[in-house]
Formats: sequence, structure tokens, C-alpha cells
Amino acid sequence: MNINRNERKRIIIIGAGIGGLCTGIRLQHAGFEVKIYEKNDFSGGCIRYVTSDDELFKIDESASLAINPLTYDKIFCDLAINPRKYFQYISLDNYYKVFTHSGKVFNLSTNLVKTQEELNFINNKEVEGYTKFIFDTSYKYLIAKDKILNRPFIDSSDVYSFDTIKTLARLKVLNSAGDYVKGYVESKELQELIFFQTFFMGVSPYKIPSIYTSVAANSQIEGISHIEGGLSAYVLALQKLFLELGGKICFNSFINKIVIKDKYAKGIMYDKEFIPADKIVLNTDYINGQRNLLNRNIEDIKLISNFEKNINNIDLSCSTFIIHLGLSIKFKELEIHNLYLNKDFKIEIEKVFEGKLPKNPSLYIYYPSAKDGSFCKNSNHSVMNIMVRVPNLKDLNISWEDDTKIQLYSLCIKILEKALKIKNLSSYILFQKITTPKNFQENFNYYMGSCFGIGHTFFQSMVFRPQIKDKKIENLYYVGASIHPGNGASIVMDCAKIVANTINNEKR
Ligand SMILES: Cc1cc2nc3c(=O)[nH]c(=O)nc-3n(C[C@H](O)[C@H](O)[C@H](O)COP(=O)(O)OP(=O)(O)OC[C@H]3O[C@@H](n4cnc5c(N)ncnc54)[C@H](O)[C@@H]3O)c2cc1C
Repeated sequence: MNINRNERKRIIIIGAGIGGLCTGIRLQHAGFEVKIYEKNDFSGGCIRYVTSDDELFKIDESASLAINPLTYDKIFCDLAINPRKYFQYISLDNYYKVFTHSGKVFNLSTNLVKTQEELNFINNKEVEGYTKFIFDTSYKYLIAKDKILNRPFIDSSDVYSFDTIKTLARLKVLNSAGDYVKGYVESKELQELIFFQTFFMGVSPYKIPSIYTSVAANSQIEGISHIEGGLSAYVLALQKLFLELGGKICFNSFINKIVIKDKYAKGIMYDKEFIPADKIVLNTDYINGQRNLLNRNIEDIKLISNFEKNINNIDLSCSTFIIHLGLSIKFKELEIHNLYLNKDFKIEIEKVFEGKLPKNPSLYIYYPSAKDGSFCKNSNHSVMNIMVRVPNLKDLNISWEDDTKIQLYSLCIKILEKALKIKNLSSYILFQKITTPKNFQENFNYYMGSCFGIGHTFFQSMVFRPQIKDKKIENLYYVGASIHPGNGASIVMDCAKIVANTINNEKR
């Protein structure tokens, strides 16, 4: 594209999360002049490495599942760039290894026939039900993707169109995931397995709209990939691409004001200086952005939408407690992605949304060293994350001081020792670090440490979720986990594409 430099429109993006980076790449490539302002000295937000001081170990701090693998190549392919020059996949035979509290161990294979064989321990009827669930739900997802998820709902005519309402009715979105799944499988273990996979919607799986069970269905159909070096390596690849295209990132740049004049976003205040822009894209946590960077006058109905008026009543997602371990041993029992389904699954999950810590938590165990040697300097070492859902900071009964951390840490280690039948896991630990909701709040400005953005309840999903363009202020756009289509790295990347296309189409 041949655009005179003086004519190029200036885009400011606040936040270098995966959403900010992907929007930046697409817009820079389309001929805009893009500058990203990031408060930290690294990009990727919560997708970054935690590293031991001696640099013997590194591991992704949070996101680790490359769900919907095609999305990760797509941004490169859309720009006619070979993704293999930037990052590599490691293929997986099993996308999850599952351990249950009753001692069962089985694999969810990327090959459905193999998964069916693995599930035969339940009974034939249940395997049929599971298979029907997978196909029905994937089919519904394809419809949702085309008609709802991959398009913005900026005008009310889009929201209330016959086509949208017909699609929502067809998808039976008012059904809760809980009721929907029970219609296919009776086995509690299978139900729980499906629910567990919807977890990073950050809402109780018994309450989210049924369409989000498509995470489990899609993982079975499309598989979950592993990117060599984890999702943090992928973010570094995106950063490299953005810089190569000529984009700029200003690190250590905390922005606390977007300047609005006559209903137009005009620029930002940075270091007491006004920096003008033609368009601004906000990639920070949505609620934080509304409260602290926009600081709209609640009384000014010209500037504020109904959603922002009710910002204090928004249902927030839960948070996560993560133990990062560097170990002097390699476990053959584990795959890269592992789930431990504990007893009283439903009670324990619901507790989290009542502001209480779980006593018998179910765990997601990320063990990249099962297949990927790039996380440890020593080939006999390995790294592991143990993740547990916990309440966000809105519940002030939980202090994240040492006592709480040690208690939950010890509980998780005990559960893991039982699941893997190993004695004295602690004796193998050479490096450890803990991430709590407080860290999410402090490091990335997640409102109340709620790390999956706005909760995906029915009235905060799809057409009801904040959209990519501000309804009252011109030239202001949003990208990220709290914005439609929602949370999850690959979903946020889809959001970035919608934002970039919208801005690009408005360009002339
Ligand atoms: C524990 C956990 C596990 C997850 N697991 C998975 C998974 O396995 N697979 C998956 O696909 N997804 C997963 N996710 C979700 C995924 O990580 C997120 O959806 C995605 O990273 C969100 O990206 P984002 O662009 O919205 O924002 P963020 O990553 O939140 O980026 C926002 C950026 O804005 C910066 N910022 C904030 N305020 C300011 C300011 N005032 N000025 C300048 N900069 C600012 C922040 O520092 C940050 O870099 C997980 C999330 C968590 C928390």
C-alpha cells in the first residue's frame, strides 16, 4: 500500500496485550501509523514468562492452551507472511489427560475415535451422548461464529435485527450450559469434564449460556495445540512482527487519561503532554478503562451508555491462583495439559462465586516439559503450573497474605501427590512462585483482580457485551477479553480483526 507518510492516520493503542498487538499489526500493515503505550516493560499482558532468578526455568504465567489453533496462524497468513518463520507448533496426540478423585485416568485424544475408546469405561450410551454433544455443539458454534461472534453489534439495528434474533433462538442461547449438557450425558464425570473446559469464561459453568460449551466441543474437533515455548513465545512472535512492520511500542508508559472534546476522542495525556491521535484503541481492562482513563461524567447522558451507567453492578469473572514450579525431575505420568476432577465438583465451583476458597479444588496442571524442552536449561528438569479458580477481590474476606497462600499451596501439592501417586513432591522443587488475584490487579490493572474480564453471563455476552466501538464517543474503540466476542487468546485475536477491519473500512 502506497500512502504518503503525512497522510497516514495515527492510531494510539493503550495496552500491549494480545488484543493490542494484533490490532496494531493489522492496522500498521493496512497503512496506519500505530503506536502502542504499555504500562509494563513487556508486551502480552498476562501472557508472559515467569522466570527463575538463575534463569534455569521459565514458564507461561497464565494462558497456555492454544485453543482453535488455526487462529494463531491466521493473522500471519492474512498478511501473506509465513507463520513458520515466527513460531512452531508441537503436535499433541492427547489434548487433555484427565485424573479423577476416584482414581480413573484417561486421555482425551485429538482423534475422536480414540477418545470414544478411552471413554468406554463409562458405558456405550454415554459415549454416544458425548459424541452427539460434540457434533451438535460444534455445528452450533459454526453458526454462532458466522452470525454472532465474528461481527460487531454497533448499532441497535444490528442487535434487534430479525436475523440476529432468529440465530439466538436457533442456538437456544437462553439455556444454561448446565441444563444443555445434561441433555446429552448423564455421567457426572463426563458432565464435569465438559464444564471444566468452559472455565476460562470465568463464570460458573452451571450459569453460562450453553453456547460456551463449544470450548469443549471445539477442543475435541479442532484440537488444542502447543506452541513451542508456550503462548508467551507466540506473543514475542507477534511483537517481533509488529516492530518489523514499523509499529512502535512505548514500554513503561502508564496512561491515565484519554482526552475527549465535543464527543470526539482527540488523544491521550502522557507524561503531562497531550499526544494527539486520529483514533484510539483501548486494550486495558474494560472497567478500569471506563473508570480511570475515560472518567466520564455519569450525569452526562450524551457521553454515557446504559452499560457504563451500571458499571458498579457488572458481574465480574472469578480469578485464579497459580503455583509455578521448577522441578529437578520429569514426570512421565503427565501430558502437557492435565485436569484433575475433584469430589464435590459443583459445590466447590459454586463456592468460588460466593466468595469462598475451595476446600477440594479441581486443578488444571500445565506441564509443557512433557513434550517441549525449551522451558528448562537442564534437560532433566521440568516446569509445571498448578491452577485453581478462586474468588476475585470483590470479596474482602480473603486476604492474599502469606497464610492464605501457604494454605492453598499445601492443599494443591497434596492433591497433586495423590493424583500422580508420588511421594514428597516438595523435595523436587528447585524454583517456585505464586500468582494471586492481587498480582493480576497490580500487574495488569484487572479490576478487582478479576482476570477473565467481564463475566460471560447471558446479559453480558454476545450482543449485550461491550462492543468494539464506543456508542457515544467518536474515534474510540475497544479490544480485549471484556469486549464481544469475549475472553480467551484466540477469541481476543478475532476481536482484534473486527476492530482493525472496522477502522480500516472507515478510513477514507
Ligand atoms: C489464569 C489465566 C489463564 C488463561 N488461560 C488461557 C488459555 O489457556 N487459553 C486462552 O486462549 N486464553 C486463556 N486466558 C485468557 C487470555 O489470557 C486473555 O483472554 C487474553 O490474554 C486477554 O488479552 P487482552 O488483550 O484482552 O488483554 P491483557 O492481556 O489484559 O492486556 C492488557 C494490557 O494493557 C496494559 N495496561 C493496563 N492498563 C494500562 C494503562 N493505564 N496504560 C498502559 N497500559 C495499560 C496491561 O499491562 C496489559 O499489558 C487465560 C487468562 C488467565 C488470566
